Amino acid sequence: MLYIFGHKAPDTDSIVSALAYAFLKNELGKEAKAFRLGELNEETKFILEKFKVEAPELLESAEGKDVVLVDHNQFEQSANGIEKANIVEVIDHHKLKFSWSKPIFVLTLPWGSTATIITKLFELKKVEIPKEIAGILAAAILSDTVIFKSPTTTQIDKEVAKKLAEIAEIEDLEKLGIEMFKVKSKIADKSVEELLKKDYKTYDFKGRKIWIAQIEVVDDEEVLKRKKEILEFMKEFKEKENLYAVILMVTNILKEGSTLFLVADEIQPFEKAFGLKFEEGIAWATGVMSRKKQVVPPLEKIFS
Ligand code: MN
Ligand code: MN
Repeated sequence: MLYIFGHKAPDTDSIVSALAYAFLKNELGKEAKAFRLGELNEETKFILEKFKVEAPELLESAEGKDVVLVDHNQFEQSANGIEKANIVEVIDHHKLKFSWSKPIFVLTLPWGSTATIITKLFELKKVEIPKEIAGILAAAILSDTVIFKSPTTTQIDKEVAKKLAEIAEIEDLEKLGIEMFKVKSKIADKSVEELLKKDYKTYDFKGRKIWIAQIEVVDDEEVLKRKKEILEFMKEFKEKENLYAVILMVTNILKEGSTLFLVADEIQPFEKAFGLKFEEGIAWATGVMSRKKQVVPPLEKIFS
């Protein structure tokens, strides 16, 4: 039997690609089963429930098994015991960092999701895609391409998703994408501390220690409703952690910009760096989506 799985800390693309490819293999008369290498995230759970597809089982070890890697090709991201597995195929859309002791089927394409590639394989093998599989494949494309907004999106992803939506009878792909991101970015039940620690980096600019956290949302209201609570906690956090400044980027992937929450010893250098005016510690930054590319460099410049 073929064991098919995506990467550790699985995302929707990893889970869906494994499920869909196992289905295709079975249709082609090859015994195969999809597995997961970790807990499902909220978005994936939502999607599987919506299209009534059962979640794959957890794989403890790949040792001694015939395996297919989807949505990854690095051993560090793969199953325990992968070095002692028999890798039969690799299907992925990431940079190739893979070598194997014998010739095998490796398919990587620079497309927005592995789900896009799997869908094309159904076409190639002339196997009909069932409605529920089409639904989860479409969802995986939406997830990986951030509703076609990620720079990794290709024309093929859009065309394939549209076709899948027809099969799955999804009327509005964008609407489904927003629903998914709402589930993923639900913050109502999160404490401010969790928001600050979910995805953060710290920087030291000539002795000024700055904590920059980022969360992604599809609407700002939930966060703005809690602005007082957020800023108060950020102030305490800054003192406690002995920081020069704390920034929380609330990035709205639909509006393509970020609400910046700022608590700092001095506000003026930040206003200068970003070309923004902070009102009570908050400013909207149009087009700012990337901490690494758009927030850190101007700070580096101003504090150097
Ligand atoms: Mn992935
Ligand atoms: Mn992927």
